Amino acid sequence: MYEPATTRADKPILVIGGGITGMTAALEAAEAGCRVVLIEKSPYLGGRTASFHLYFPKLCPPVCGLEINLQRIKRNPRIQILTLAELERLEGLPGNYQATVKVSPRYVTEACTACNACAEVCPSKRADDFNAGFSKTKAVYLPFKWAFPLRYVIDRAACANGCRACVEACKYEAVNLGQQPERKTFSVAAAVVATGWEPYDASRIDNLGFGKYPNIVTNVTLERLAAPDGPTQGKIVRPSDGQPPKQIVFVQCAGSRDENHLPYCSSVCCAASFKQASYLRAQNPKAEITIFYIDIRMPGRLEEFYSKVVKEAGIRLIKGKVGRIEGEPCTDDLLITAEEILAGKKIIARAGLVVLATGIVPQTRGLPPGFAVDEFGFISGSEGDFYIAGCVKRPQDVAASVRDGTGAALGALQSVVRSVQSG
Ligand SMILES: Cc1cc2nc3c(=O)[nH]c(=O)nc-3n(C[C@H](O)[C@H](O)[C@H](O)COP(=O)(O)OP(=O)(O)OC[C@H]3O[C@@H](n4cnc5c(N)ncnc54)[C@H](O)[C@@H]3O)c2cc1C
Repeated sequence: MYEPATTRADKPILVIGGGITGMTAALEAAEAGCRVVLIEKSPYLGGRTASFHLYFPKLCPPVCGLEINLQRIKRNPRIQILTLAELERLEGLPGNYQATVKVSPRYVTEACTACNACAEVCPSKRADDFNAGFSKTKAVYLPFKWAFPLRYVIDRAACANGCRACVEACKYEAVNLGQQPERKTFSVAAAVVATGWEPYDASRIDNLGFGKYPNIVTNVTLERLAAPDGPTQGKIVRPSDGQPPKQIVFVQCAGSRDENHLPYCSSVCCAASFKQASYLRAQNPKAEITIFYIDIRMPGRLEEFYSKVVKEAGIRLIKGKVGRIEGEPCTDDLLITAEEILAGKKIIARAGLVVLATGIVPQTRGLPPGFAVDEFGFISGSEGDFYIAGCVKRPQDVAASVRDGTGAALGALQSVVRSVQSG
């Protein structure tokens, strides 16, 4: 009989990816008594959800859900967290794998108190990827204000040559520009792969004008524009002139369910657009919001969320595929040409801001070979004690990702038990 105890020499579970799925898998396994090594390639935990303004369906800020998990992680000595860490090699046999992890330097040690003295003196700037490039940070920066770990990080590629201003400004001696990449090896019984998703590159959808006209943004960018800690302090404005848009058009399935781009449905984009329409309505009760859609897909309980938003936000819904978006040079407005299917005619709509509901692409870069992928690139399985969970397996919302992470933790725990029993 397996009795979880930290003193036993059981091998840990490796969790790859520190988004909501990986955090859940790590926590469930650790709280069941198993040791976990959680590796995350970015400087913080939380993944994509950390950058959202609010979560559907409850419309609560991500800090609520993530904070509970972060508190549980901080309290649990069985979880070892490595940020800026990626798997280099994973070799071995079921129940007994050797994982080699490369940890890139943060250049800021645990002595950091996040006092910001380093950033105040830093002369260099970099594009803020957390804010979709819509703002800049100093070369030494805190990824966002409630990031975990709450510790600065230095983008050395952005540093001025020979500059040591941050070293001199830090009275805790937390800056170490001499840090080098490290390689760590772990003997693990199983691995959970939870590397999540990235947005489809909207500039590949030629007819929708992304990258050509400033007032066409993606759904991911809109989350940052709406977030109080985002580049516009939560005001949703047109990138061209910083003014709040009066007419907003959402284009559903931007590249999705399209043989030339993503042939599948990303399942969360409809709910994301209705959520974002509610942000716009809250900021401007008179905003005219139109959503062009092929089909509205709101699985399960999301149907209630949809009905509520449509009723309260007064959204105009047009069933029709958008064929082309063009800019109007003197106003920076957009002209959207679409087919209105129910009326059987072509229409041209005008908008001050267009939001492209782009889909989810599985994030599989940096994973060792050997995982089976489906026809769309999502990981469908593998041989051995590997458990795949979250959006790298299929597009899904946070609630489903949490369930998936929990299921993966159970599978990995069974692998640990098997490895203990087989000695
Ligand atoms: C515009 C938009 C809005 C959305 N809004 C909502 C919402 O309101 N409510 C909701 O329920 N769902 C929403 N979703 C869906 C939600 O984003 C996903 O359910 C959630 O992000 C899935 O979490 P995940 O952990 O699987 O992936 P991610 O959030 O992508 O996390 C994966 C983590 O793995 C890390 N990683 C990747 N590769 C590696 C590697 N090789 N090594 C180590 N680490 C790696 C990444 O850096 C990241 O931290 C939305 C989706 C979109 C597109």
